[in-house]
Amino acid sequence: MKILVCKGDGIGPEIVAAAEAVVKAASRRFNLGLEIDYAEIGLESLKSQGTTFPDATIQRMKESDGIILGPLHTAIYPPPEKGGPNASGGTRKALDLYANVRPSRVRPGCPAHVKKMDVVIVRENTEGFYADRNMFAGRGEFMPTPDVAISMRKVTREGCMRIAESACELAKQRSGKLTMVHKGNVMKMTDGLFADCVNEVASRYKLEVDEYFIDAMTALIVRKPEFFDVIVTTNMYGDILSDLAAELSGGLGLGPSINAGADHCVAQAAHGSAPDIAGRNIANPTAMILSCGMLLDWLGRRHKRPELQEAAKRIDEVIESQLADKNGRTPDLGGKLGTGAFGEAVAKRLAG
Ligand code: NAD
Repeated sequence: MKILVCKGDGIGPEIVAAAEAVVKAASRRFNLGLEIDYAEIGLESLKSQGTTFPDATIQRMKESDGIILGPLHTAIYPPPEKGGPNASGGTRKALDLYANVRPSRVRPGCPAHVKKMDVVIVRENTEGFYADRNMFAGRGEFMPTPDVAISMRKVTREGCMRIAESACELAKQRSGKLTMVHKGNVMKMTDGLFADCVNEVASRYKLEVDEYFIDAMTALIVRKPEFFDVIVTTNMYGDILSDLAAELSGGLGLGPSINAGADHCVAQAAHGSAPDIAGRNIANPTAMILSCGMLLDWLGRRHKRPELQEAAKRIDEVIESQLADKNGRTPDLGGKLGTGAFGEAVAKRLAG
């Protein structure tokens, strides 16, 4: 099974190296036969190939079974026409990764901002407010004059139905409860379509469904996080809400995610490239490691290989023990372990 690694920018190379050590340990321990290969992306490929998202990398992604992608410092990329397309959004579009699944959980013994929380945010990943990737050709953001900027949000029945299916399937496996989040009181057509689709799919799954507007939801998830389980929402709301949930669970370094479609899956931490701490060996690689665990779980389900799912479960358990130990944490959680040492410690626990 081929896993392609793209290290990314900022803290990307550090956290991806730590995650890779864990994935290799899992492959040995559970006989997974994973073959790891590398492709350039982001600032690295901009320097060597003149683009942040080379065609060859896209091709290699398509040929791989799974992809590990580090965060990208997209804010400083040159304009797309000068070689700086957003390779994160580009990957989601090129591989049609419509479901961004972002769990956040308070773990026993690990410092968090709330007492109890175990949520999974299922975020639509290909359309919505993301004007740089929501069109078939061209971009949904433009300036008719230097003083007028227009951005278009796209919501389709197909996009809503497929993300609703992903969320309902997950809710069925978990508590049977689904919360949808939108802003249908204002965005009556776009969020109205989203809500209609989620209701239609959820009624087929016989789930308990509630719904909140995104503004109120940001308060409610802080006030009573234990009330929520699976949350389904559109692209931008999901991006914002998942950072909030990760922070509530202890910090951005704890928020994993997969970007999944029908045929491909990318492990990618929910956070960004954290330029403020890059190159200092202090970034928390937990989110990246857990994202890799989620990728193994996805591969196990897709290829009916239970050993991959077993490895994923073990990675989660090992992270839990590692974070419960106050000497086993990185500085963002009050610990002293470096990024690399954290990865090695988790890999060692996994091997034992
Ligand atoms: P960020 O998530 O990179 O950082 C926000 C804060 O969280 C910073 O203080 C950072 O140090 C901290 N942080 C993030 N990850 C951490 C970790 N693993 N361990 C410890 N602390 C961590 O958000 P930003 O600063 O707004 O964005 C930086 C760059 O990342 C921008 O170029 C942005 O466009 C990009 N970005 C990329 C992705 C992606 O590739 N998926 C996602 C979000 C932002």
